[in-house]
Amino acid sequence: MTQFIIEATAFGVFLLQKNDKKSDILGVDVGALDTISCSNGIQTKEDCHGHTLGTILKKLAKKKKGSKAFERTANHRDNYINWSVNQLNLYNVKELRIENIKDIRRGKSSSRFLSGWTYTKIFSKLERLAEEHDVHVSKVDPTYTSQRCSKCGFVHKKSRSGKKFSCTSCNFSIDSDLNAAINIANDRLLPIKSSFRNKSLNRSGFFWLEGQDPIVPVSNKII
Ligand SMILES: [Zn+2]
Repeated sequence: MTQFIIEATAFGVFLLQKNDKKSDILGVDVGALDTISCSNGIQTKEDCHGHTLGTILKKLAKKKKGSKAFERTANHRDNYINWSVNQLNLYNVKELRIENIKDIRRGKSSSRFLSGWTYTKIFSKLERLAEEHDVHVSKVDPTYTSQRCSKCGFVHKKSRSGKKFSCTSCNFSIDSDLNAAINIANDRLLPIKSSFRNKSLNRSGFFWLEGQDPIVPVSNKII
């Protein structure tokens, strides 16, 4: 029998499934607008002053390095990151799947406000939190996780436009960071080799299906 628990967090009150096998793996996508987007649908929203990590980082970019104002804004950024990550609910989570930071710069061209330093800060905070809760951390290559439709598996650059993901193959629409988090949580996706990047198939789109050779051209898909 499926059991439910009510969980109150800073984001609101959620009805969560207890002992649901699917919730054992939590995928997390890291971005500038919603710092943390989870495969269970939870995302960091703006803080009580209306700030997001993006607005804080933009503010920081305008400050003179070494000035008091810079220091204040940098502290705000650090507090915001800690606050965002602390919202993660690791109850019933056995494995936390995150993007491999080594691959992240090429994998996420849209995150220009996030410096390598900020990513490192967020990921080390995530890993610390997981350790405290005795949750295993696994890392996945982020390539194509933001372009893949989490419903039908079709990968195309045009499916993603900023915060909106709308699949060019099946029309499925979802927040683009949540879509990426669901793909990150999917442990049945075999990794795509980096040599694939320059192939023309990448431009026309392809299916990246569970438990199969990752590259399935549109014409070869068995429906
Ligand atoms: Zn689709």
